[in-house]
Amino acid sequence: MKALEERIVKDGKVFPGQVLKVDCFLNHQVDVAFLNEIGREFYRLYKDSGVNKIFTIEASGIGIACITAQYFNVPVVFAKKSLGKNIASDVYSTKVRSFTHGREYDVIVSQEFLHKEDRILIIDDFLAQGCALNGLIDLINCAGAEVVGAGIVIEKAFQQGGDIIRSKGIRVESLARISSMSDDGSITFCD
Ligand code: 5GP
Repeated sequence: MKALEERIVKDGKVFPGQVLKVDCFLNHQVDVAFLNEIGREFYRLYKDSGVNKIFTIEASGIGIACITAQYFNVPVVFAKKSLGKNIASDVYSTKVRSFTHGREYDVIVSQEFLHKEDRILIIDDFLAQGCALNGLIDLINCAGAEVVGAGIVIEKAFQQGGDIIRSKGIRVESLARISSMSDDGSITFCD
């Protein structure tokens, strides 16, 4: 998505450890009109896939998922990062290692909101090592539901997450795929 690449070049900031901050339009301040274009593009890509639910992970995925869901006219379910020691019995749970925070946490979703007849589109802001996406796929598998695919706003294609998930046969559509970033702030995209 050309407009997204241009926005990343204009407003993105590269931080040490191969972290890209896009806080001024996606992760802190949100440009809703721009997000609307992102939602429209996910709809164009997945509109014929029979999606009946959108699934994401808190927090940054929620806004993107909700705007996308308006196009599909389906509900959004988001997985919660659990801080408590005890995991309730009526949830599906998995463990996810956070790329940005460098720690592992439990991620849960109520069994009430994922069912085996669901056809689920996963939406998230970034794809890096693939841990978050893998965790969401795990939860969907626990419910016996089907993963239709994943819609990612920014994939850091120089990290292995995209390859890992695609090698499982899962469709991954990323609106911007970064091939390299350097500490001087320069960012290049895959063709
Ligand atoms: P993964 O689990 O694929 O390693 O990382 C994906 C998750 O980590 C995303 O949900 C996102 O919140 C966060 N993340 C990974 N890389 C970046 C990055 O470069 N910038 C930002 N802002 N978040 C990232």
